[in-house]
Amino acid sequence: MKISFFDFNKMHSEIQGELEGAFSEVLKRNWFVLGSEVEKFEKNYANFSNTQYCVGVSNGLDALKLSLIVAGVKAGDEVIVPSNTYIATVLAVSFLDAIPVFVEPNIDTYNIDVSLIEAAITSKTKAIIPVHLYGQSCEMEPIMAIANKYELIVIEDNAQSHGAFYKGKITGSWGHLNATSFYPGKNLGALGDAGAITTNNLDYSKQIKTWRNYGSEIKYFNKVLGFNMRLDEIQAAFLSVKLNYIKLWNSQRVEIASWYYQLLADVELIKLPVIHENATSVFHQFIIKVEYRDQLQLFLKENGIETMIHYPIPPHMQEAYNFLNYKAGDFPIAENLSNSILSLPIWPGMNLIQVTYVANYIKQFYKIKNIG
Ligand SMILES: *Cc1c(COP(=O)(O)O)cnc(C)c1O
Repeated sequence: MKISFFDFNKMHSEIQGELEGAFSEVLKRNWFVLGSEVEKFEKNYANFSNTQYCVGVSNGLDALKLSLIVAGVKAGDEVIVPSNTYIATVLAVSFLDAIPVFVEPNIDTYNIDVSLIEAAITSKTKAIIPVHLYGQSCEMEPIMAIANKYELIVIEDNAQSHGAFYKGKITGSWGHLNATSFYPGKNLGALGDAGAITTNNLDYSKQIKTWRNYGSEIKYFNKVLGFNMRLDEIQAAFLSVKLNYIKLWNSQRVEIASWYYQLLADVELIKLPVIHENATSVFHQFIIKVEYRDQLQLFLKENGIETMIHYPIPPHMQEAYNFLNYKAGDFPIAENLSNSILSLPIWPGMNLIQVTYVANYIKQFYKIKNIG
């Protein structure tokens, strides 16, 4: 058997007719940029996110950049980010010549450790970007409390957790601004690049609409030195179709995760994902923390099972961030994670036989290890 790390086939084959219908509609309408499809999706996604406003944009990185701009973050300001996030979170901060201040993750949830945030706040701190990593919501209530106390703006990075909750309130509705990505492999994915920002602040939503469109509210009148960071009509049309299935697909991911939990429960050298008691996860990834990670990955590969590492190098150790002058050991939790985590295959439509196949080879690897 061969198990891909991710497989779109099951998801897309079931809605192929609807996707093709959406494409035909846009083709017939002959309107491809900022039209009725973008407006419709923005309304639908705001509704899904339980926020008043949504602004569709070009991708997740741009959603983060635009959020930081309208939050008023300037060169030299400090922005708190987790030390174990995907690089885009940090790149957005650097784009504004602001300074990323890394805070280590909690060793169980892998989300930002709330107890370490206050110590990282200085007079220059402007914003916090909690990242709901791997599908699990951060502890948003205490994070908002800290932000209120120090008058900081919270920008959620919700790229990996469409549909997760903290204390019954959905991610993407907690922060002052909430940036997300609809990169194809995310839980809600377009058929190309796409992103959005959700907010309850009308002024922010208006400003973002201006910034995404050359800084122009009225055609040929430019208020700010804006960008072209728009969401395409065609992607918005595909996203509106797929939004109707996100709850179903998330529930399938949760079920697959429950199979992994059962099948791998008694393997001593594996730490399974820990979900905070007040949070839910939509299992964008199923992460195991293991001994002999690289050998395990190779063994699985030799047996037809693809796995990945999210992420092999933490942002502070990336070549691009040499100028921040961090060194190995500065963020040991993030560094340890990048050396010991493995992402197992998980995708909507993956069945119990496939999950069992993966689990059995993992168990076999550790059986051989214990004997050898
Ligand atoms: C994917 C991702 C992004 C960037 O989204 P793009 O649409 O690829 O630009 C940002 N943050 C996190 C946590 C992500 O997973």
